Order: sequence, then structure tokens, then C-alpha cells
Amino acid sequence: MKAHEYQARDLLAKAGVAVPPAIVVDTPEQAAEAFKKLNAPLAVVKAQVHAGGRGKGGGVKLVRSAEEAKSVAQTILSKPLITPQTGPAGVPVKKLLVAAGVDIKKEYYVALAVDRAVNAPVLIASSEGGVEIEEVAKNHPEKIIRVTIDPALGLQAYQARKIAYKLGFVGDQIKQAIDIMTKLAAVFVKTDSSLAEINPLIVTPPSAGKPDGEVLALDAKFNFDDNALFRQKDIAAMADPSETNELELAAQKHNLNYIKLDGEIGCLVNGAGLAMATMDLIKLHGSEPANFLDVGGGATEEAVTEAFRIILADPSVKGVLVNIFGGIMKCDIVAQAIVNAAKLVGFKVPLVVRLEGTNVQPAREILKNAAKDIPMLQAATDLTDAAKKIVAAVKGKR
Ligand code: GDP
Ligand code: MN
Repeated sequence: MKAHEYQARDLLAKAGVAVPPAIVVDTPEQAAEAFKKLNAPLAVVKAQVHAGGRGKGGGVKLVRSAEEAKSVAQTILSKPLITPQTGPAGVPVKKLLVAAGVDIKKEYYVALAVDRAVNAPVLIASSEGGVEIEEVAKNHPEKIIRVTIDPALGLQAYQARKIAYKLGFVGDQIKQAIDIMTKLAAVFVKTDSSLAEINPLIVTPPSAGKPDGEVLALDAKFNFDDNALFRQKDIAAMADPSETNELELAAQKHNLNYIKLDGEIGCLVNGAGLAMATMDLIKLHGSEPANFLDVGGGATEEAVTEAFRIILADPSVKGVLVNIFGGIMKCDIVAQAIVNAAKLVGFKVPLVVRLEGTNVQPAREILKNAAKDIPMLQAATDLTDAAKKIVAAVKGKR
């Protein structure tokens, strides 16, 4: 599960990390009001969407007056935001954050993630933070610091100090940076995060009484472990369903594992391994899967009906391949469920069904007899046959 920037900033602020004040709004008028309320000469209007790279896509703008805040808010809210992380269609923007703007002397990057190779959290940091961090990671990997954290001990003082020095913090900045890293690491563990990132972490120019400037978090991003949400009620309450694909939400409701992909063939499968194999064979025979839909071991008639509805609601689906192994469920029951569901939902695209396992013979009879009612239906003898048939049917229609 992902959080919005404003929620991530709240988490950090609650943990005692210095974050500039900010107000969430959803209209241009409210943005102007927020600018006045912040009472700062500079503010940042920021699109609140789950995708990153907003700065590059025009979703983060500095403003110097209430009028400017209003017009910038109008512009950002009026069209989908396209960033390097959204895909070409972009994502709708419904909320903005108006944050007090600060002057930046230098931008840094600091994050915690789970390093699966060593089964431990890892702190990742760089003195080259900001919107180009992906480029830095790619072209200058030596500028990225990685420190493994003992899961039982957490980020230790000596580790944080060493990182702060390596990043080039000086004077009072060192203390501030250590404090922020320590708190970030603690929030990461406490909230069952899979990613907790501050980018940029910044140092402000020197000011009266602060010759070394101030270390502040200007942007934050958290991803949480879905499997831990049962014990993270406050985190779970932060979920924004409007940021999740509608069909994925419908699938969640019916306990189906559905992932939208970019191809043209819908896959209705039971079991993740079978789904992988099915997608591989679709690719091998010259097409691309439009989704990954796993109805699970049970594959009841209701689940299959709902799965068909979800798959067919996606306009990019030009054909559907059903590949079910009757282990827990008997194939004849599954076949009947498929036939009933197909009749109920109504098929306008080719449907190829491959069943294998217990009671497969009566299942094939059921499919054969159903062909007259569902002309789009073809039965397949094995997975290769099924993949070839659906790809041919889809290509033939073009
Ligand atoms: P992202 O592009 O989605 O990661 O959005 P960020 O919140 O990180 O903003 C992108 C960039 O905008 C930052 O790297 C900064 O360079 C700039 N920025 C954000 N907030 C401020 C601010 O208060 N003052 C100034 N001067 N620049 C800012
Ligand atoms: Mn950022």
C-alpha cells in the first residue's frame, strides 16, 4: 500500500522530523487561502498522487502570491499529471498540498528499504538528492551509500554518524541529519514499511542564529507491507481507493488476485505458478497478456463469473484464455461454472478454455455441448494448444 506525500509528511512530523508546514486542498480557491494562511513569501503547490517524479511532470510548482497559488492549482488540477512514473495517459490530480517554500542550499537523498538479499532493512543515502536521483543511481553508483541495518538493533548511532559524515554534512547539520535518519529508520520499522524515503532532504542557506542552516525533509514517500496492514489500522486507514485501478479494487473485494498488464489477452487462471506459465506461453506464441487473474484454488462459479466481468471490463482485452487445473476443484464443476459465467456475462471476444486434472473427460463434454450456446468458445487439449488457439483467434480478428 502507498501513501500520499501529505500523509507521509504527517508520519514524519509526528516522529519529530522537521518538515515545513503545509495544507491539503482540493480547489484553486483553497490553494489561495492556504497560501495566505501559511504566511510565507514562497510556497510550493504539489500534486498529491501516488506516482513519483512529479517535479519533472509539472506537478510541483513554486509560487509567490495567493493569486499565483490559485492559477497554478487550477492548471495542475485541470489535467492528468504525466510523470516518468505514470505512463503516457497520466493520472488524475484531485488533491494538492500547499507547503511553505524554503530556500535550498543542497539536496540529499535518504531512504530505508528492505534488502531481500540479506533479509534486513537497508539505509540508502546520497549527497546527490533531488529529481535526478535515478540518473545518479544509474550513472554514478559510487555516489549511493548503502548500509545494512540489524533488524533487532535498528539504525545504530555510529552508523548514522558515519553516513552523515560521508554525505558531507558539517557542523550542526551532522546532529540534525543523524536525528532525522534515526527517526526515519524508527518509523520505517514501526509502520511495517517496505519503503520510507525522503527526497529531497535539504540544507537551507545560513540564517541568523543558524550558521550551518537547517536540515529539513521537503518530500516523503512511504510504501507499506500489505501483509502487515491487519496490525497497522492507522496506516490502513490512509489508503486512497481512487489511486488504485478500479478493476483491481473490484478483484480485491472478491478475493481475486488481479494485476492489470499492457497486452491483449485476458488470463483466467488458478494459482500463481500456472498464471506465470500461461503468460509465458502467450508471449511465446506471439501475443501479450492483458492481465494476471488468479481465482485461487477454489474457483467457484461466483469467482469465475466475477473474474470474467473484471477481465471483460478492460477494453484492451481482445481474447480470453482460461487455464485451470482441477485439483481441489473438479474440472467438470469448473467447466460448468465457466459455461454458466460465460452465458451470464456474455462473450464478444474469443474464449479458449484449457482444463486439466480430476474429471477432465466430463468437463470436456460440458465444454463441447456449450459451444452452440457460446460460439466464441473453443476448448483446448493442452496449454500450448490453448495459447496457439487464443493468439490465432485474436490475430485473426485484427
Ligand atoms: P517529486 O518530483 O515528485 O519527487 O517532488 P518533490 O517534492 O521532491 O519536488 C521536486 C523538486 O522541487 C525538489 O527536488 C526541489 O528541487 C523542488 N522543491 C520542492 N519543494 C521546494 C521548496 O520548498 N523550495 C524550493 N526552492 N524548491 C523546492
Ligand atoms: Mn521527491
